[in-house]
Amino acid sequence: MAPSRGRPLLQLPGPTNVPDRVLRAMHRPLIDHRGPEFAAMTLEILAGLRRVFRAEHGVMIFPSSATGCWEAAIVNTLSPGDAALVCEHGFFASKWASIASRAGIVVERIEGDWRRPVDPDAVADRLGDDAEGRIRAVLVVHNETSTGVTSDIASVRVAIDRVGHGALLMVDAVSSLGATDYRHDEWGVDVTVCGSQKGLMLPPGLAFCAVSAAALEASRRAACPRGYWDWEEMRRSNDSGFFPSTPPTSLLYGLAAALDMLEEEGLDAVVARHARFADAVRHAVAAWGLENYCLDPGAYSNAGTTVLVPDDLDADEIREFVRDRFDLTLGGGLGPLSGRVFRIGHLGDLDALMLTGALSGVEMGLAGVGWPPA
Ligand code: PLP
Repeated sequence: MAPSRGRPLLQLPGPTNVPDRVLRAMHRPLIDHRGPEFAAMTLEILAGLRRVFRAEHGVMIFPSSATGCWEAAIVNTLSPGDAALVCEHGFFASKWASIASRAGIVVERIEGDWRRPVDPDAVADRLGDDAEGRIRAVLVVHNETSTGVTSDIASVRVAIDRVGHGALLMVDAVSSLGATDYRHDEWGVDVTVCGSQKGLMLPPGLAFCAVSAAALEASRRAACPRGYWDWEEMRRSNDSGFFPSTPPTSLLYGLAAALDMLEEEGLDAVVARHARFADAVRHAVAAWGLENYCLDPGAYSNAGTTVLVPDDLDADEIREFVRDRFDLTLGGGLGPLSGRVFRIGHLGDLDALMLTGALSGVEMGLAGVGWPPA
């Protein structure tokens, strides 16, 4: 069994290790969520989030997991029967597609190679064929947490514009924000969705979206039914520092502290730290004689590396070994990758020695299951 002392190492690509400073910030008495102190805190948090999203306007906070903001993105901008083009390059893109189709949206898919990033030319081709403008949105996952592949969002926007199509660009930045360079305004993204439990170093429970003027305009016409997920109501409340329903005050305390930490380190330095650690992990994977699932070096993920194991190894056995012996948690393979890969998260509150500890644990786990073979 795992030792009962010391620190558990949560080396998932989310939820990530929550820093002590964030834990301490959450550990204080609640305040009145309809009072002035609360409003001042929310407004400051929203300003901090806008800096992290690099969005001048339109950031909202929903008490929810990130899936909630996926749904909000759909039901606030589209009407039943509208089409959405989903770049299906991994498990999370498929899940987003399924949320859209359950809201009555006709999902069209670009079924890409999961080991490579989204191909902007394929997006342009599909939109170019849509002369009557049935496709109202293009859905892309920036960093596919299931595969460790990061796509180029700016190029997808260029592809949409090149064919003069009016579809909204909706991006899942759930495992990229706070780990990878992200620019909502500059890249022309219409809706960015994120959650609290990855690069933002919080427990799960908060979701965020940044929305463009075009997305807000679409929301005035969109006919999908919505209540809790209604942007208009949330925006009106958030803009005055409040929430339409009882907010998770403790998580907001934590978010304020996490945003302070990101600002103190500097966003560019945060991204550079993630890039350095990701590179170190890839060197370790190569030294172990294993394969990075991502085949395109330009798309390697700053947030997590998905490691493909040979057919005669069981990736879950490695994960169980390190969990039971060293209290080290690795991500498992999702969907069709179950048992074939393990995932090393390297995002959030991480320093070099935490990372080398985790890599040592993986290496010992590999030895424990007989890799490399004698
Ligand atoms: N999108 C991506 C890229 C994710 O990695 C995840 C979760 O890991 C989600 C969406 C769903 O987030 P949640 O579980 O917070 O709803």
